[in-house]
Amino acid sequence: MPPSSTVEDFRRVLRDSKNIIAIVGAGLSAASGIPTWRDSGGVWKSYDPSTIATPTAFATNPSLVWQHYHAMRERALKATPNPAHFALALLCIPSFLSTVAPAAKFTLVTQNIDGLSVRALDITTAQHANGSGNLASESEISRLYEMHGRVLDTLCTSCGHREYNPADPLCPALAASDLGSSEGQIPVEELPHCLQCGGLLRPGVVWFEELPHHSREIWEVVDAADVCLLIGTSSKVQPAAAYAYEIADRGGKVAVFNKERSEGDEERDFLFLGPCEETLHKFSLALGQTTCKVSIRTDILQDAECIRRRPPYLVHLRSVVRRHDKPQARN
Ligand SMILES: [Zn+2]
Repeated sequence: MPPSSTVEDFRRVLRDSKNIIAIVGAGLSAASGIPTWRDSGGVWKSYDPSTIATPTAFATNPSLVWQHYHAMRERALKATPNPAHFALALLCIPSFLSTVAPAAKFTLVTQNIDGLSVRALDITTAQHANGSGNLASESEISRLYEMHGRVLDTLCTSCGHREYNPADPLCPALAASDLGSSEGQIPVEELPHCLQCGGLLRPGVVWFEELPHHSREIWEVVDAADVCLLIGTSSKVQPAAAYAYEIADRGGKVAVFNKERSEGDEERDFLFLGPCEETLHKFSLALGQTTCKVSIRTDILQDAECIRRRPPYLVHLRSVVRRHDKPQARN
């Protein structure tokens, strides 16, 4: 049977669900101006990601890797969350989720490193703070895992210190380098260094050959999930495909939200084609409009600059996740 595209059918599935997991990919951030590697243009287009986004590449040519990530950081700093990010952030808010799926927990897993899902959740949580102006109770907010790290984080290659650092540029040499060229080599001593120990910093993202963050926690959520949303990612791309198949094998429902049809979609239960910022936003409105007063106030994005400059909410959320999920030690 071909996948359904009927919102009402999907609404029924959500209403009966107990554990919903959303796995998002690059398609979610396309409308925020974050291109995929293939679409990044310029000199970077000619580089295979596997030759830049690896520990080996960094050891061989840290200047080239930093120049690339400097450009990615600049894009991330300029970007703002789009309606698709906000639609998912709403599902993280208990007062909205309970109107859609009264008995369900919701977990958001992003493969993106732009931090936009966290910022959307940060903004949305602040908006719905029970009128007090304070953030809603952290323990009530759904879990959000950035499995590939965050481009605005730095990680010390010597002492392992990781921190959120939105400074732009991270060091004068990166600002002065020709970002359109791979030729201007920056001496290692002029690349970003750790303020704690003086060691060379690297981007705080997960590279090829490295293990994703929170793998254990995510698999535990997958094992309990009865509904899986695949958003802005091909249902054939790992690890989203593995998660979806695992859930489907146990009789769970899988819904795909993506711009284009991809191989494997026909095996899914639901398929909503179109740009995520349109399909998810409409979907969110269709689900919640009549039953919940929660709305998306994108006007707050006028204040995006101050939000961008402070550490994201996830810094606090991570500690909550650890506290509430014993005995799940980080792997
Ligand atoms: Zn250090």
